[in-house]
Amino acid sequence: MNTLPIDELMALDRRHVWHPYAAMPGTGPVFPVKSAQGVYLELETGERLVDGMSSWWTCIHGYSHPRLNQAAQEQMGRMSHVMFGGLTHQPAVQLAQKLVRMTPEALQQVFFCDSGSVAVEVAMKLAIQYWHNRGDPQKQHFLTIRNGYHGDTFAAMAVCDPVNGMHHLFRHSLVEQYFADAPQIPFEGVWEEGDIASFEAVLARHHGEIAAAIFEPVVQGAGGMRIYSPQYVRRARELCDEYGVLLILDEIATGFGRTGKLFACQYAGITPDIMCIGKALTGGFMSLAATLTTGHISETFAQGEAGVFMHGPTFMGNPLACAVALENLNLLASYDWVARVWAIEAQLKRELAPCRDLPTVRDVRVLGAIGVVELHEPVDMAVVQPQFVQHGVWLRPFGRLVYTMPPYIIEPEQLRQITQAIYAVLSQE
Ligand SMILES: *Cc1c(COP(=O)(O)O)cnc(C)c1O
Repeated sequence: MNTLPIDELMALDRRHVWHPYAAMPGTGPVFPVKSAQGVYLELETGERLVDGMSSWWTCIHGYSHPRLNQAAQEQMGRMSHVMFGGLTHQPAVQLAQKLVRMTPEALQQVFFCDSGSVAVEVAMKLAIQYWHNRGDPQKQHFLTIRNGYHGDTFAAMAVCDPVNGMHHLFRHSLVEQYFADAPQIPFEGVWEEGDIASFEAVLARHHGEIAAAIFEPVVQGAGGMRIYSPQYVRRARELCDEYGVLLILDEIATGFGRTGKLFACQYAGITPDIMCIGKALTGGFMSLAATLTTGHISETFAQGEAGVFMHGPTFMGNPLACAVALENLNLLASYDWVARVWAIEAQLKRELAPCRDLPTVRDVRVLGAIGVVELHEPVDMAVVQPQFVQHGVWLRPFGRLVYTMPPYIIEPEQLRQITQAIYAVLSQE
């Protein structure tokens, strides 16, 4: 591959390349990355930035990790891809075994797919087909909670927050689902049963047509970076059982240690019927996601009308992605990640606390390796993004939220650079 001059690269990017949630031609600032190593991104323009985003929760062990690179290279020497219909292979089977061992015990079957959104689609289809298999075909709707985020495809979008997700734009193409109020009691708050009243009210009224409840346990990610009481998750589990509704937990952002537990549902001590994972699964190396179910769900499919589960992506169980994911999970098991995440949490709590005194700041919250500063007003990305780059850090705020979820391998001085940059940039606001 030739290297384009930077001016030409940026002009072509603006003209031809869509970016996530962006206008075309591009309006906001975009920075060209040349390479990435450990916790650093190196720009084409020479700056070296400490990564505070883990490339959207994924890159938990930093970039270009030698063990992940080696796993990919070894697998490429065997095969990078092969179809999964009628064929199977070592990487997929070993990864499935590992995931079944890591996740709550009742989760026994793994459906591999390519992205988090598709893992959510798969979870929702599994839930609908499960009830059909059981002779209850009218259970086709979903209950979710406000401020959620589950992906950008249609079924996933239908259970995202209706305001953040601008549901009205897609009104005639989007199935209307049921929304309960977002949990209000914070992570360490004293539980009050009223917090889950609206969730229960929807179930009481509509359980006959609801296949499953779906939400992100304990931490709501892109829908608002909200951290809430595990007791909500525990009570939701009980209510789903009471009303004969499945529970789908979306652990795509929270999974693999980010919150301080391997999976956030462990804070509540409960097991979902269906669980979605993705993001950090390959350590940010490439896209891979999965949907896990209990035997109770999967065993109904053989007797159902279709006799099979009606889903099968072209790149399902991609061997390269599975081999890297397997090595990433071995890597996670090879050191005391819990201690590292707790150390990051303690430092984030200590060093983000001064932000509370800034007049622009509404709230500061931290759980595990997630630090959030919520502002009263949305930030101006055109101003703020280059300022963070000038401070030598990569952060990507959205709306009123400035937040960081660094790689677990970050050193205290590097994390301090991030927290100091947040304070410095926000005090100029
Ligand atoms: C990112 C995310 C998704 C969507 O995953 P993609 O890989 O972007 O499709 C779904 N749910 C949650 C909780 C997420 O954070």
